[in-house]
Amino acid sequence: MKQLGLRTRLTLVFSLVFAGILVLIIGGSYRILKFRLDENLRQELRERVAGLRGYLHFQDGKPQFEYDADDPDEAFFVESSTHYYQIFDAATGGLVDQSHDLDLLDPDIIPEKKQALASGNVFSDAESGTIRLRFYNELIHAPDGKSYFLQVGVRRDFMDATLKQFLFIGVFALLAGLTVASIASWWMAGRALQPVNLLTQAAKEIGISDLDRRLPLRGTGDELDRLSATFNEMFARLAKAIGEMKQFTASIPHELRTPLTALRGETEVMLLEPHPVHEYKRLLASHLEEYDRLTRLINRLLTLARAEAGDIPMHTISIDLAQLTRYLVEQLETVASAKEVSLSVEAKEPVKITADHDWLETAILDLLDNAIKYTPAGGRVLASVENRGTEQILEIRDTGIGIPEDALPHIFERFYREDPSRNGGNEGAGLGLSLVRWIVEQHHGRIEVKSEPGKGSSFTIRLPSTPS
Ligand code: ADP
Repeated sequence: MKQLGLRTRLTLVFSLVFAGILVLIIGGSYRILKFRLDENLRQELRERVAGLRGYLHFQDGKPQFEYDADDPDEAFFVESSTHYYQIFDAATGGLVDQSHDLDLLDPDIIPEKKQALASGNVFSDAESGTIRLRFYNELIHAPDGKSYFLQVGVRRDFMDATLKQFLFIGVFALLAGLTVASIASWWMAGRALQPVNLLTQAAKEIGISDLDRRLPLRGTGDELDRLSATFNEMFARLAKAIGEMKQFTASIPHELRTPLTALRGETEVMLLEPHPVHEYKRLLASHLEEYDRLTRLINRLLTLARAEAGDIPMHTISIDLAQLTRYLVEQLETVASAKEVSLSVEAKEPVKITADHDWLETAILDLLDNAIKYTPAGGRVLASVENRGTEQILEIRDTGIGIPEDALPHIFERFYREDPSRNGGNEGAGLGLSLVRWIVEQHHGRIEVKSEPGKGSSFTIRLPSTPS
């Protein structure tokens, strides 16, 4: 089933809540009003009956109201209070007296009324023709020893009409209130959601090609402004990621075509005329090196593409970072001494981490390789490992050419490399550091770089310690 729109749902919820509150208020008021009117009627009946009892006398079994006919108050009271009354003989149930305005009511009622009186329920409702009455019922013991059952009634038309009117006004108020509330909440929900619609429209218009556009901020700092700001941050991240991807795809053909063209050119030149065997050998040896370089490049590209797709699982084991670093430094000693760079390691105590051995080795080798590559003869490279409690640190410091400040934020981007003329014609593909960063992130670590052109660089990997 199709979900209702947010505006409709908001309107419905608001209207229902409002209707609920109105029903509670009207229902509550109705009950209070009914109780008060009831109570008034009962009080009036109690007073009338108490008053009448003073005037009621029995002579030879006949009830009579004796009062001073000259006293208009007394006369009025007795006459108005005996409009609706009847008296039965409690023993026989026979009607003894009845007012003119009352048809006989409940002739068989006496035993029940007696019971009701015994349980303290002295009030009852009855209808006489079109008139609705409330009665006060009382058992009277006359001085002659007989018992009589007295019923005095008052009309409850006023109370019923008042309640009916109140109910009518209540229902009308409910309907009117509901209509107004629905219209108001529809309007309010529309107003509140208007910025969301504008956001939706603006977000729809932002495509892959114009990720530099941003959603408008209204400057209110409310939830919607924060939502727009979050979207804008997301667009910025997307733009950066897509920019990197574009650069990545644009660089691949270049990275592959250039060496292939060079290889082909050299081969063509060689084939133009016969050469001595040692020259063919030299060419093939240099081609072998180039094939190796290309294979490494393609492997890295594949690794990065798989890493991007989240295809590479990490097989973590407990590793001594100090031991691994010492081993890798040993492996590279010949490369360093060939370049007349002194390579040393400072890693005395074991430093335990949980990591994927092969990937960590790749990262450390890349950093050491860069440090040696970008350090001129006579320079120094130092790898140090340190246990700092919650994190383990590997720092690779060199006294090489350093990295200019404006290049620092970019060196971890794919295919980023500096002008080869500055670094002595070193021709990397600019993929190493982005792979290193990916490896470190896979181990929940961070990599930082500090560098001063002409003085040297320092790369620091911070890895979380193995939980004990
Ligand atoms: P490359 O294969 O070109 O070395 P990297 O991703 O490993 O690619 O490095 C990117 C760039 O960072 C390099 O081109 C180089 O300019 C700079 N760089 C990396 N390590 C160092 C270092 N130890 N000293 C100076 N520059 C460095």
